[in-house]
Amino acid sequence: MIEEILKLKKEKSAIILAHNYQIPEIQDIADFVGDSLELARKASEIKDAKIIVFCGVKFMAETAKILSPEKKVLLPDLDAGCPLADMANYEEVLKIKEKYPDAWVVSYVNTNADVKSITDVCCTSANADKVVKNIPAKKIIFLPDKNLCWYVKQKVPEKDIICWEGYCFVHRLFTIEDVKKVKEIYPDAELIVHPECDPEVQMMADGIYSTSGMLKRAKESKSKRFIIGTEEGLLHRLKKENPDKEFYSLGSAKICPNMKKITIEKLYFSLKEEKYEIILPDDIIRKAKISLERMLEFI
Ligand code: SF4
Repeated sequence: MIEEILKLKKEKSAIILAHNYQIPEIQDIADFVGDSLELARKASEIKDAKIIVFCGVKFMAETAKILSPEKKVLLPDLDAGCPLADMANYEEVLKIKEKYPDAWVVSYVNTNADVKSITDVCCTSANADKVVKNIPAKKIIFLPDKNLCWYVKQKVPEKDIICWEGYCFVHRLFTIEDVKKVKEIYPDAELIVHPECDPEVQMMADGIYSTSGMLKRAKESKSKRFIIGTEEGLLHRLKKENPDKEFYSLGSAKICPNMKKITIEKLYFSLKEEKYEIILPDDIIRKAKISLERMLEFI
């Protein structure tokens, strides 16, 4: 199947993008593996591909479509959604905008396309604090992740930030108990966690990083052993890129079932039958693109 995928990819002039949380086999066959910001950038830079097969969750494939509307963007499993993104819906966001007309709406890239279309500026976990700092307004509505919002509040105390009440159920599985246990077993290890983790866990960590930030930190740090507080898919890349270092998940491995819905078989059928195509209304694409492009200007 892997051979067939590579053949189809060539024939159809397709490119495979995969998120850091994908299963190892998908990461290994992809043309590019990265976090949401890196993948969004890649999608807009690719000039010669006709098809983008996005191995990730739906909002990511939508983001690729928004940034490359002329390309056919495929998601191998339409059920690969993100519960965090679904926690901010269009009507509710419109309501809060009406309540605070002077506030800027900042949406984490983990939002659906219609919400991005009524957003002033998007951000990722790698740049959320920088984006908020550079906004020319004091009042901010930050959505949908309340833990990332807490992190941004610590970094940018001069802004008046209203946090949306969303959360990632995968990152909320990391607990203080996990941290205590792991510190006992590996007192010399560096604990790095994602800002979608609960504030108590973030406060006990040695560093808080996005997935791309974790990859960079692991390369640059003198530590030989790391405890990782994010979805377990990232450990594949961490180990591959740093064979002389050790990486362990914080507590038991935390798995996002949505990210794991993409399999080699589904990727094969996606390419072969050109399904499932991401189709978005033109006005949503146009408006959402402004909020994504503004993010790139603000960092
Ligand atoms: S790990 Fe969390 S934020 Fe990421 S796709 Fe899964 S549910 Fe959504």
